[in-house]
Amino acid sequence: MAELIDGKTRAAAVRERVAHDARTLLDASGVRPGLTVVIVGEDPASQVYVRNKGRMAEAAGFVSDTHRLPADVPEAELLAIIDKLNADDAVHGILVQLPLPDHIDDRTVINRIDPDKDVDGFHTINVGRLSLGLEGFVPCTPLGCLDLLKHSGAPLAGQHAVIVGRSNIVGKPMAALLLAEHCTVTVAHSRTRDLDALCRQADILVAAVGRPGLVKGDWVKEGATVIDVGINRIPAGEGKTRLVGDVDFEAAAQRAAAITPVPGGVGPMTIACLLSNTLKAARRAVRRASQG
Ligand code: NAD
Repeated sequence: MAELIDGKTRAAAVRERVAHDARTLLDASGVRPGLTVVIVGEDPASQVYVRNKGRMAEAAGFVSDTHRLPADVPEAELLAIIDKLNADDAVHGILVQLPLPDHIDDRTVINRIDPDKDVDGFHTINVGRLSLGLEGFVPCTPLGCLDLLKHSGAPLAGQHAVIVGRSNIVGKPMAALLLAEHCTVTVAHSRTRDLDALCRQADILVAAVGRPGLVKGDWVKEGATVIDVGINRIPAGEGKTRLVGDVDFEAAAQRAAAITPVPGGVGPMTIACLLSNTLKAARRAVRRASQG
C-alpha cells in the first residue's frame, strides 16, 4: 500500500514558514508583503478561490486586497487597474483570476502585469525564464507538485517522469521543472497514443487532465510516485457530490510507492506556493529599493 503524500499538512507547514519569514522581513525593513487579486465576473468557483487566497494571505501577515470588477468591464479599464498596481510600491504580487470573460484577451492582460509582480508565473517573460532555467516566478500548482515530490523523498535525477496534460498552467511548467531536476520527461496529451503503456513506464506519474479516474490502477508501475493534480466533482448519490482526481486512487495506491489524495494532496499547495511567491516578490522589491 502506497504512502500517502499529505498536501494538507505540507501546505500548512509552507504557510507557517512564509508567515515566519514575512515577520522577519517586516522587522528588518518595515515592509509587509502585499498581494492584490483582481477578479472579473461572478464565477462561483473563482469567488471561492479568491476568498481563500485573501484569507490565507492575511493569516500569513500580508496586506491583502481584492478588486472585484463586473463581467462586462472593458479590457482597457482592467489594463488601467493593472498599470496602477504595477506602480504601487505596496503591492508586491498581482494575480488576475482566470478565466476572464470572452471579450478580454487573457494574454494581453497577463503580459500587462510587471513580470516582477507576476506571482502566478504566467507572464511570457516568466515562462521564458523557467524554460531557460533563469530566476523568475514559477506557476503555483506545478511548484506545489515539485515541493510534494521532493518532500516525499522520491529520487528525481535520472527518473522517468510522465506528465499527462500539456496546459500552460500545469503540464508544461511541470515538465520544465522536472527537466531542471534532471528527470527524463515525457509529456502526454489528448492525442497521445498508447497512454496506458506510456504511464506504465513512469517512475513519477503526474496526472493533470481533468477527467475522473482516467489513470487506471494498472497503468501505475510498481513503486512509482503518483501526483494527481485533477480536481473533478462527481455525483455521490442522494443529490450530493464529491471531489476526485484523475487517478483511480484505490487501485493506484495498491501499486504506487507514494501517492497524493484528492482532496488533500496538490490542491492545498497552490495557495501556499502563491504566498511563497509573493513573499519572494516582496523580498526582491526590498532588496532593489535598498540598492537604490
Ligand atoms: P486543461 O483543460 O487546460 O488541460 C488538460 C490537458 O489534458 C490538455 O493538455 C489535454 O491535452 C489533456 N487531455 C485531455 N484529455 C486527455 C486524455 N483523454 N488523455 C490524455 N490527455 C488528455 O486543464 P488544466 O488547467 O491543466 O487542469 C487539469 C486538472 O487539474 C483539472 O482537473 C483542474 O481542475 C486541475 N487543477 C488543479 C489545480 C490545483 O490543485 N490547485 C490547479 C490547476 C488545475
